[in-house]
Amino acid sequence: MGDNTFAKLVNASTRNLEITDGSNIAVIGGGPAGSFFSYFAIDFARIIDLNINIDIIEPKYFDKAGPTGCNHCGGIISETLVQNLSAEGIVLPSRVIRRGIESYTIHLETGSAVIETPLNEQRIASVFRGLGPKGEENSNFESFDGYLLSLCKEKGINLINARVKELERHEDGIVVKCTGVPDKKYDLVVGSVGLNPGALSLFKNINPSYIIPKTTKTHICEFYMADTDIDKYFGNSMHVFLLNLPNIKFGALIPKSNYVTMVLLGDQIDSKVVDSFLGSKEVKGCFPKNVELKTLMHCHCFPAINIEGAKSAYDDRIILIGDSATSKLYKNGIGAAYITSKAAARTAIFQGISKNDFQNHYQKICKKLETDNNIGKFIFGVTSFIQKSELLKKGLHATILDEQNKINDKRRLSSILWDTFTGSAPYSSILQRGLDPRVGASFIWNTIKQTFT
Ligand SMILES: Cc1cc2nc3c(=O)[nH]c(=O)nc-3n(C[C@H](O)[C@H](O)[C@H](O)COP(=O)(O)OP(=O)(O)OC[C@H]3O[C@@H](n4cnc5c(N)ncnc54)[C@H](O)[C@@H]3O)c2cc1C
Repeated sequence: MGDNTFAKLVNASTRNLEITDGSNIAVIGGGPAGSFFSYFAIDFARIIDLNINIDIIEPKYFDKAGPTGCNHCGGIISETLVQNLSAEGIVLPSRVIRRGIESYTIHLETGSAVIETPLNEQRIASVFRGLGPKGEENSNFESFDGYLLSLCKEKGINLINARVKELERHEDGIVVKCTGVPDKKYDLVVGSVGLNPGALSLFKNINPSYIIPKTTKTHICEFYMADTDIDKYFGNSMHVFLLNLPNIKFGALIPKSNYVTMVLLGDQIDSKVVDSFLGSKEVKGCFPKNVELKTLMHCHCFPAINIEGAKSAYDDRIILIGDSATSKLYKNGIGAAYITSKAAARTAIFQGISKNDFQNHYQKICKKLETDNNIGKFIFGVTSFIQKSELLKKGLHATILDEQNKINDKRRLSSILWDTFTGSAPYSSILQRGLDPRVGASFIWNTIKQTFT
């Protein structure tokens, strides 16, 4: 296509860049971001008496066990997200929650400590994004992603089970092509395809200034265990490891119904890094004695995670949300998907669907998340530093133990760690609390005491 023809098409397509009665919206990807966008867009449209059609296009089957319904995730629904969702009228039913998390157990080479939820309430949920690993076919549980999609269907949103293969910009809309489904032209196309490189490149083809998010490799694996053993060895506690092992910034064991999900985050996690984690006495100590951990392993993968947000994640008639745009560094990615999706839906329905509309009303939300992530990088830099020093870890351990005997608002370091591990608060708030001289004083005092023990 010549430059002139392309310019004409772009000029023509900038007319009528708003959602009106009868507008068609394609949401590509039915993970949390796609569902949240659709849920809010249809509600916002109803507020201003607009009748719109939304198609969510998603190839996975979230009602099937195994890889076909898996969206590779630790499955922790943060406190903040549980609260935000319930304020939106979305209360997670018990058939979706595999376990309510009541505490965190932090493991260091110097010992372990349990940190209870700050308000002693059970508000963090562990879920499976799909139905769970193979073998879960007959369970009575429902998947988290499937549940969100069912809420969308109840609102009249159409679910198309297909994979998008091509996007084509036209004068008056964008044509979406999938195998096995007739091509269809949409007024707005929403990209909620996570970090799938092939799908992201479809958006780059029609929005060349889009720069895809930077990622690194992580690890997830599922250990199958009897629920009675999970109760005995893990309880309702998420086990977090701050060990001096190369590449690992954060390791966690998350108890669910019949599984314990292991998550390793850091820099380019590979099999060697995984083996070093599994071989540590702190990790082995969480499981029944004399059990070879690899025999409990049911499935495992090395999915990508965002470490830097996308650039220009919008154009006329195009908006990218969730992981495809920007996320929260290492934590609460589903919570970040909620934030970007709602902001994108608000912009599309109330402001318009031009590049300018998204730049003026959506971009600032992504920018705020990215600024917070930069603070997060600093906080993880500090935890990595502590991870490498036995003395500092002893001081950290002593401070946490000391704080557990105090009333809630005096458990300053514990609440900072709680929010860092759960992703329940913005990194800016964590940093602000970390700079409280009383936190530093208690940590330094406990560390000095350790030098004499
Ligand atoms: C190891 C690890 C652990 C994590 N743990 C947590 C956690 O405990 N809690 C938390 O909140 N976050 C966690 N996250 C982050 C979280 O998984 C993501 O932030 C979240 O899934 C983003 O949602 P999304 O809807 O943007 O993308 P996704 O959940 O990736 O959904 C994208 C959807 O798009 C679909 N898709 C892809 N290509 C196409 C195509 N061509 N056509 C149609 N559909 C397509 C996919 O099938 C998928 O369903 C974790 C991430 C990793 C890597």
